[in-house]
Amino acid sequence: MEGPSAPSIASAGEAVARIAYASSDVVVSVQPSLATDSEFAPFLRSLSASKKAGVVAKQPEILPVRYNADPLLSVFQPIRSGKLVSVTASSPILVKSIPHLYKLAQYPVVIHVSVQPSGFPDYSDITSIRQSGFTFIQSETLQEAQDLAITAHALAIKSGKGVIHFFDSESIAMSKVIPAESEELLRSVLDLGAVKAFQSTPSGESSLYADDGRVAHLSLARSQANATTVGEPTGRVSPATDGKTLTLPDRSSARESTEGSSRRESSTTSAKSSSAGTSVESLEHKQISSDEIFQFATAIWNTISTSTGRLYTPFEYTGPDTAEAALLLFGADTALFAQEIDSVASTTQYAGAGIITVRLYRPWLGRVMVESLPKSLKRIAVLEQVRRKTTKWGPLLLDLLMSLKTGGHNPTTVVGHQLGYISQSTVGQALRGVFQNLLSDSPIQNLQIGKLDGPQDRPRPAKLEQPAIENPYVKMLQQVFDQRLLVANQLGKSHAGISQEISSGPEYGFGSLLARKEHRKRFIEEVQAAAKSRDFITDSPQQWLSRWALVADDEEKAGALATEVISRLSNDGSSVASQLLSSKGLFYKESPWLIGSDAWAYDLGNSGVHHVLASGENVNMLIIDSQPYSERAAADAARRKKDIGLYAMNFGNAYVASVAVYGSYTQVLEAMIEADKFDGPSVIIAYLPYEKENDSAITVLQETKKAIDSGYWPLYRWNPRGDEKGEPNFQLDSERIKKELEEFLRRDNYLSQLMKRHPDFSANLSASYGSEVRQLQKRKAKDAYSKLLDGLAGDPMTVLFASDNGNAENLAKRLARRGKARGLKTLVMAMDDYPLEDLASEQNVVILTSTAGQGEFPQNGRTFWETVRDSTDIDLATVKFSIFALGDSHYWPRKEDKIYYNKPGKDLHSRFVTLGGKPLTECGLGDDQDPDAYQTGYAEWEPQLWQALGVDKVEGLPDEPPPITNEDIKIESNYLRGTIAEGLKDTSTGAISAADQQLTKFHGTYMQDDRDLRDERKAQGLEPAYSFMIRCRLAGGVATPKQWLQMDEISTKLGNETMKLTTRQTFQFHGIVKGKLRPAMQAINRALMTTIAACGDVNRNVMCSSLPQQSVYHSEVHAVSQKISDHLLPSTTAYHEIWLKDEETKEKTQVAGNAIVDHEPLYGPTYLPRKFKITIAIPPHNDTDVYAHDIGLIAIKGSDGHLVGFNLLAGGGMGVTHNNKKTYPRTGSMLGYVPKETVHIACEKVMLVQRDHGDRKNRKHARLKYTMDDMGVDVFKGKVEELWDDKFQEPRPFKFDSNIDTFGWQKDEHGNNHFTFFIENGRIEDTADFPMKTGLIEIAKVHKGEFRLTGNQHLILSSVADADLPTMKELMAKYKLDNTNFSALRLSSSACVAFPTCGLAMAESERYLPELITKLEGVIEETGLRQDSIVMRMTGCPNGCARPWLAEVAFVGKAFGAYNMYLGGGYHGHRLNKLYRSSIKEEEILEIMKPLLKRYAIERNEGERFGDFCIRIGMIKPTTEGKTFHEDTAEVESDEE
Ligand code: SF4
Repeated sequence: MEGPSAPSIASAGEAVARIAYASSDVVVSVQPSLATDSEFAPFLRSLSASKKAGVVAKQPEILPVRYNADPLLSVFQPIRSGKLVSVTASSPILVKSIPHLYKLAQYPVVIHVSVQPSGFPDYSDITSIRQSGFTFIQSETLQEAQDLAITAHALAIKSGKGVIHFFDSESIAMSKVIPAESEELLRSVLDLGAVKAFQSTPSGESSLYADDGRVAHLSLARSQANATTVGEPTGRVSPATDGKTLTLPDRSSARESTEGSSRRESSTTSAKSSSAGTSVESLEHKQISSDEIFQFATAIWNTISTSTGRLYTPFEYTGPDTAEAALLLFGADTALFAQEIDSVASTTQYAGAGIITVRLYRPWLGRVMVESLPKSLKRIAVLEQVRRKTTKWGPLLLDLLMSLKTGGHNPTTVVGHQLGYISQSTVGQALRGVFQNLLSDSPIQNLQIGKLDGPQDRPRPAKLEQPAIENPYVKMLQQVFDQRLLVANQLGKSHAGISQEISSGPEYGFGSLLARKEHRKRFIEEVQAAAKSRDFITDSPQQWLSRWALVADDEEKAGALATEVISRLSNDGSSVASQLLSSKGLFYKESPWLIGSDAWAYDLGNSGVHHVLASGENVNMLIIDSQPYSERAAADAARRKKDIGLYAMNFGNAYVASVAVYGSYTQVLEAMIEADKFDGPSVIIAYLPYEKENDSAITVLQETKKAIDSGYWPLYRWNPRGDEKGEPNFQLDSERIKKELEEFLRRDNYLSQLMKRHPDFSANLSASYGSEVRQLQKRKAKDAYSKLLDGLAGDPMTVLFASDNGNAENLAKRLARRGKARGLKTLVMAMDDYPLEDLASEQNVVILTSTAGQGEFPQNGRTFWETVRDSTDIDLATVKFSIFALGDSHYWPRKEDKIYYNKPGKDLHSRFVTLGGKPLTECGLGDDQDPDAYQTGYAEWEPQLWQALGVDKVEGLPDEPPPITNEDIKIESNYLRGTIAEGLKDTSTGAISAADQQLTKFHGTYMQDDRDLRDERKAQGLEPAYSFMIRCRLAGGVATPKQWLQMDEISTKLGNETMKLTTRQTFQFHGIVKGKLRPAMQAINRALMTTIAACGDVNRNVMCSSLPQQSVYHSEVHAVSQKISDHLLPSTTAYHEIWLKDEETKEKTQVAGNAIVDHEPLYGPTYLPRKFKITIAIPPHNDTDVYAHDIGLIAIKGSDGHLVGFNLLAGGGMGVTHNNKKTYPRTGSMLGYVPKETVHIACEKVMLVQRDHGDRKNRKHARLKYTMDDMGVDVFKGKVEELWDDKFQEPRPFKFDSNIDTFGWQKDEHGNNHFTFFIENGRIEDTADFPMKTGLIEIAKVHKGEFRLTGNQHLILSSVADADLPTMKELMAKYKLDNTNFSALRLSSSACVAFPTCGLAMAESERYLPELITKLEGVIEETGLRQDSIVMRMTGCPNGCARPWLAEVAFVGKAFGAYNMYLGGGYHGHRLNKLYRSSIKEEEILEIMKPLLKRYAIERNEGERFGDFCIRIGMIKPTTEGKTFHEDTAEVESDEE
């Protein structure tokens, strides 16, 4: 590390962090909070980020831990598993960690401690733990901090015992910069043999509940014996071997020039003594003695001295050999004292005094100390900077006295002083004071020197704060218990005279709850007495008080009376009334809670949880666990808080729940209510995983889901008295580990034993289960293949693929088939399913990989690639290989991003070459931009492969069957039956077959998998978390309140507790697992809705403007939407058979076989080539985006105010494929006017022309929009009219003025009221901040009108009579549903679902758009645009579900975190936008949007819309029709290469 470019080190934090990193497997970085760095943290992070190798570990792990989260607990798991652990921390954690310190002292852990508070540290943090068994080393300068940090690690490794290295960073900060440490020196000092020995022998201890009995002994240190020589601690030091003067570094150098002064070192073993080394073998299994520590330290310091010339000793005396007086300094700035003593005239009292400093504080080597002192010393003043005194005499004073006594040195006087703050300007005065006292005849002990309260400008220590991210649980408690909530240990609450640290602790909180309970008891007595007294002025209080006193213990009744009682008392005015009112909170039966972090409960024998449980008191505890899920966390038994749950259940008397607010909001609510009701202790362990306090909600959500899904954090509730009420005691609310936990509970009496044996019970089981099974599966699959191949002749060819969308997989399978036909023994599998240990023994390996994201491997090839990339011991010398890559050379159009093109394939090719593999061909490159897309490159590559394998000239190859298409699937399905019914019964998988996945779309359901969980599940060898999305068919988006409640119930009971209101005005449910699919379908049908043809190649849900202002007119138009919807419904009976027939009655079905032949008069057996969408807009509102659908109907009002007919647009559509210019969005073309009576027939005929003329070969070209453009609008119209036998009339005039919703209250023509709620992106869910779902349930329960879903994903509470308004308004206010006070930008925004459920999503959308808008709202406010609506839309892929191409500004997902940006759409959805920038990330989006919005605010014309403005100022060209969408884009694509 040292060398010309070696960095210079400027702070103790940096010096120490570097050594800790180099010398550890794991560095526990204790930080004020996860968002606030310690003085060590930035250096650790940057070392880790640079992937720098350490001396002990290749890639040391940094583990950040909050300082108040019991940080030293994190040391146990890694160190017990054979990892060398160090800790960087500040001193206040030490005293709180005493129980851990005693145990950790027996491990080779190093704790680097910066003594606090900075500027005036209190060394009592060190002296209080001096008996903990650790070795203590102190540094006073920057160079020492580096050298002694090295010493600390070397000593820990040698002795096997813990070392605490402490220093005052602030005084060290005065030191000059030093060069970085020498790696060579580190290597020579650290006993790497001992390191290996330690790493290979995990200790196996696991219990934290009792002393684990571990004792460090020398077997750990065995290997050091050979490297280290051990001498007797005889005292005297030989000078450094090079004979140079020893120098005190930096500021004390002034001392050395003083004539006659010398430095005396306590002891050493010189290089000479090495031959006399004692073999450590003889010490083996003996506990470490202080002498041995001394010997090790001395040897280490000798090595350092040899290499650097700097010699260290346990104690150091500087000053004249003849000095009669000396100072023993501890915690003081030695250099400050030294300079002062050296600089004064010889007549000064303290001139010529010696200074003794302590470097090895523990073990205290008294004899060594004494021998380091000149015999001339008569008086010693001990100066200790120890503020919190626990003994009468200073600890150093006692140490010294004892040493002098036993060491036979007897200075006449030793005087202790308590040292306060001394600065350069006061040091002289302080020394005068000390020496006057020291030299006096009767010196005073414990004299205070300097300012005991420290420097004036001392920075305040950081305030304890509950991280904001943890607020959801507290908010929920507030929502649920409102006035009744009593959080005993709430931060920020004032507790007279009690520090926050204490008052926020569990013990204090518990105590105060008990006191509060007593208080209430007395209060009830007071009330009873008052009720009988005659002290009130008015009459009513007495009566109310006695009524209240009777029900005081019933929380509901007492609460219900409380308000009345309080109001009577308030009106009374008597002193007894005011007396009672002074405790008015006690009229409510409070719900008493203690809230804490998991730190309370780590060591159960010693914790708040245990105390509360043991007390049996009716107290509720909410323990928040913030440890993110990871394999490490899962493996860390000690950190698994669900053990608290098991512990509490085992205790027997407590209600226990394990919950996660980002997992199931409903379950948290239930648990809180049940805990409150439970008479006895309740423990809710609540999950909220985060790395940093400013982690985004998406991250927390994803972590939570992984933890629940993997079984690491099961959701459950346990009520030990459930059976008394005939309810189960245990309720599991999540899926995984169900069996284990159930079994566990069944064997009730095994609970405690199992806890003892496996405190890491389920997580470990499930974690190891995963990886083992995965290995086994790989092996099995490969072996099965090999078996199949046995007996076949020909060379082997192993074909591996990594594929996201199936292309690479299909190609690979076809290649394998073709290889087989050529006589090769072929095996084909996904890269990640292949057992890598076999790779080196393959003969021919062929890999096909597509390209994901920014040049990444697809999901099922990542692990393979990472292992091949990182491994150094794979030898491919005998392996021949060929790679074919699939990608898109224009996907990342910027020149600098060209490297992403086919990166995985290219990288793999060169890595294989590096590992010695022999390429059979060049790396093949398939490019989506080629005329035949990737097939062009493939057609060149495959023949080369056959040639290289010598099988190119094989004759008589069989014909290959054509690939199966969607059209084949439809034909074969027997009118959409397929094997859906059988698939539903198969419980061995959560999935259904690929063909059925196409068919179920026609039934309104898609199979999806939770993409947040894909990686984790894959790592565990599990199939993806499959579930289904169900979409309802709801013409015009109108639902009754009853239907709303039914829908809500389906989402809660069968889905993922949320509903999505879609851009096509219907309900969508997510997360419905296969087993719940039929019940969900039946429930939807019971609600008189259906899902048939909600998806699939048929006419979908028919939309209709929601028009709250004109309800009569709306109902006329809505009736037409319903009519069209019914008219175009498929006729197949398969839907009814599969989903609705009752299994119970065993009603005969025709599902199996072809017993019934359905008939589809409109669709025929192959249905439509692609999906078909119809919408109706009622001018002037284009809220359904009439131009974006296959058919858009514009309602025309007659002169009588009633509907007369429609202008019919056809050929609109949104779906596009990135970089495929043959695909484009299109706005509908006007075909003409149709009267309302025949409009459904006109729609039918348009659909039939598309049925017969749409492209059935290429699904990317199958929508009506392409048919129309290919045919020409007039020809198309002609065909429709021909089939219809009627004509379109001239279109009637109409005018649109916007495509967004109008929020808030509006009145219709009958005086009824309508309120449009702002439902961000259509997601109906409860959060701690906004219990919207619950609120809507309450509203639906009393609502007499209807609900209308809008095409912008919002919701209208329709037709509220004036009489019902107050109730509605009250409910809306209660649930914050009346808030529409958002920026107009937010109100006009819309996003599709995308992650985690949409399988096509390339980037986040619904979860991200709100965040992006928040980031833009600053500029919006600044520029006065808050009320100006700008239509902004986002989708996760170019499929266009939120109709992005009609927005004024749109973002369409391109890869994770990257979006294409479009500008210039028409405000009322009439003009398509155009590509402005491609693949930009948030930073660039903000860089473009912020100045653009400012410009718009300043430069726009009166009434000018944002999209129009962008065109006028030349930012973007207008898109005049779909076909020109790709022309004149703002970004010129690079045509390099
Ligand atoms: S636009 Fe794409 S990402 Fe968004 S929901 Fe539709 S298919 Fe999924």
